[in-house]
Amino acid sequence: MSFTKQERYDVVVVGTGAAGTSAALEAAQHGASVLLLEKGRHTGGSSNYTEGLFAVDSYLQKEQGIKVSGTDVLKEEVEYSKYKADSRIWRNYVDDSANTVQWLKDQGVKYEGVQAMGAGEATWHIYEGMGQSVLHDALLPQAEKLGVEVRTLTTAIALHQDADGAINGVTIRDEASQETQDVATGAVVLAAGGYLNNPDMMAKLTQYDTSRLIPVSSGKGTGDGLQLGWKAGAKQYGTGMAMLFGGYLKDPDEPSFKFMASQMNTAAGQQPLLWVNEHGERFVDESVVYNFSYAGNALYTQNQVYSILDQGVIDKMAKDGNFMGLGVYVKRGEKMDKLQAEIDGAVAADKPFIFKADTIEALAEKMNVPVDQLTKTITDYNDYCEAGDDKAFGKDTEYLVKVAEGPFYGFKLNVGAFCTMGGLQVTTSNEVLAENGLPVAGLYAAGNDAAGLTGDTYGPNMPGTCVGYAFYSGRNSGKHAAAYAKAGVTA
Ligand SMILES: Cc1cc2nc3c(=O)[nH]c(=O)nc-3n(C[C@H](O)[C@H](O)[C@H](O)COP(=O)(O)OP(=O)(O)OC[C@H]3O[C@@H](n4cnc5c(N)ncnc54)[C@H](O)[C@@H]3O)c2cc1C
Repeated sequence: MSFTKQERYDVVVVGTGAAGTSAALEAAQHGASVLLLEKGRHTGGSSNYTEGLFAVDSYLQKEQGIKVSGTDVLKEEVEYSKYKADSRIWRNYVDDSANTVQWLKDQGVKYEGVQAMGAGEATWHIYEGMGQSVLHDALLPQAEKLGVEVRTLTTAIALHQDADGAINGVTIRDEASQETQDVATGAVVLAAGGYLNNPDMMAKLTQYDTSRLIPVSSGKGTGDGLQLGWKAGAKQYGTGMAMLFGGYLKDPDEPSFKFMASQMNTAAGQQPLLWVNEHGERFVDESVVYNFSYAGNALYTQNQVYSILDQGVIDKMAKDGNFMGLGVYVKRGEKMDKLQAEIDGAVAADKPFIFKADTIEALAEKMNVPVDQLTKTITDYNDYCEAGDDKAFGKDTEYLVKVAEGPFYGFKLNVGAFCTMGGLQVTTSNEVLAENGLPVAGLYAAGNDAAGLTGDTYGPNMPGTCVGYAFYSGRNSGKHAAAYAKAGVTA
């Protein structure tokens, strides 16, 4: 049975996030007939929750007088990746980033402005209405205007290849009826958003303790794009990295997304204050939070981590603002006027991630960490604060805030993760490479399915590079896939 309008499309795109939607629109703008598939009920994937994209030399940066060198970005990112990232991909991405900002504007996207995050550069182009609006008010309507057929609740389940291995079709499944259909095509773009939500793949392909990893995402990144690609002969490449974003609270009664906008979660997980492990020892300069991916790594060096806040710093954050935010969900410097109420609510509900006591000794007992060690840790820490000199780890004096005024709170921290990146090696045209290093003809990958941007740790110092790459690589693959499918050649 056929449930698509046509039997053949020039290009079939798998996934409707920033990468897939951009690929479909760009391919249509290059004259291709396009089928855009989404396995979920709703379009947009994790891209719906994004706040902004990376670019250098954009019209917005020029208006705001912001200058960031593209070559410096490239060098920093490649060095940060320990040379696991692909310099050519970064070169093309950086060079096209201002065009991508403009292209989005041309499709109707509106921006709030450009900002930095943590300790990084002002490369983050914040759009109005988050990714949800970018996709649903701008890109998808434009794509549909150009005839792109968008099908929700339709999953790509297999790729077809001709005798030479070139992609020539896709099997799709209608999730409502469970019926399947074979669709002929000249090219496929895999943009299925990575594998963060596939527990088996996370356990096999990464080294994270997944029992402490909290995926905060669409929940639909189940690795389908990688599996489809690998089955078609693509090389398994560049897996192992999730975008960790520091400490996150785990509430077994609530969806993980709930804490994204919670001031309590930001106060507990994202401040450069005091962390101890299950032995009651401090283990790191907590200002690592200004790079939230490094913070995730640091948390993973211990079996368990608690952040400790006293009433004094809670009151200070309510009055003067936090030290660090969480994206634009809880802004940096925001006055934490809901913090006390959120904390009181969690204590009253006896949530498993929060401990409250009037003394450090009682707090240690509640958290089940050694009383003597926690007392010593806090005495030493308060001495460093008093002296303005962190003798243990050299934390900057501006973050040395004493733990002195009860009641005291301990928060059990897990590690948040937004997405994985990588799995399919791609060329600068986003063609997927096979084991032999040559492209699988007609197969393209974009966004989180494509490798080449990172090593084992995401680089948040240039904020927006993840979804920025999804838009850029989506467009890039859409353009090349359209040219290949229509003429049998790369653009
Ligand atoms: C809360 C949050 C905030 C973030 N903020 C930012 C930010 O501001 N800047 C930034 O750079 N990055 C940010 N990120 C990371 C960002 O979400 C990703 O980089 C980006 O969304 C990846 O886009 P994508 O198109 O590759 O995947 P997705 O947006 O996840 O889209 C993939 C889509 O493919 C669909 N799909 C999967 N398998 C199939 C199949 N077999 N058939 C059909 N459809 C399928 C999925 O259902 C999904 O809709 C954030 C992430 C989260 C969770």
